[in-house]
Amino acid sequence: MRIVLLGAPGSGKGTQSQLLVKAHGVPQVSTGDLLRNAVSKGTELGLRAKAAMDGGKLVDDATVLGMIRERLKLADAAKGFILDGFPRNIAQAEALQTLLAELGTPLESVVLMNVDLKILFKRLTGRRICQDCGRVFNVYTSPPPSPPHGANCVAAPKLIQRPDDKEDVIGERLAVFEALTKPLIPYYRSLGLLRIVDADADVDTVFKGIETAVQSGALGAGARSGGGIRG
Ligand code: AMP
Repeated sequence: MRIVLLGAPGSGKGTQSQLLVKAHGVPQVSTGDLLRNAVSKGTELGLRAKAAMDGGKLVDDATVLGMIRERLKLADAAKGFILDGFPRNIAQAEALQTLLAELGTPLESVVLMNVDLKILFKRLTGRRICQDCGRVFNVYTSPPPSPPHGANCVAAPKLIQRPDDKEDVIGERLAVFEALTKPLIPYYRSLGLLRIVDADADVDTVFKGIETAVQSGALGAGARSGGGIRG
């Protein structure tokens, strides 16, 4: 499996990636996670990326492309990968095509996760992450159960909110998606790679939709409507 999950912030790319990892045994490659890791370690790259991330802007292409090149050359990516949050603009998509041609591992499909704007806001503003185990909860739709919820989380979960999930930054992230990432929809459609999945539904239904879209290669109904965010 060599796919891109394309979708607005909060469309569920991370959650679905994790299910796909379990089902297909290929790694999730999330540029957001790689960048957050660099920020928390205080590396030079992390320090460079932090301001853009906190403001909901894109980190510069050279930094992200350097990171993705290193990651896709690791042995585990030879059997496949799920790209989550990359590419985010046309320049990144073109660089990815070149890189994958060099590696001899072209993309099989690009799955656009189509989500209603109101649902998106709820997902983003409600998202909380357990500081101990990294599990993702949502205060509206999937609040954490009474502790313990994980093997290492015996105390009451310490839930943190990503700085870029604060309401003022969410607006900027959605604007960046509209302006820079949405042009990837016609780009991948023209390459015949685009599949569209209705991502408003519950996690399992969306997962089945992705599996079907990836396997059948059939275009979803939204393919003709432009897709991305509705509402
Ligand atoms: P995510 O976890 O995918 O929502 O990414 C969080 C933040 O990391 C984004 O708002 C950007 O600041 C940065 N980021 C993640 N992926 C990329 C990318 N492909 N290009 C540029 N910036 C990115």
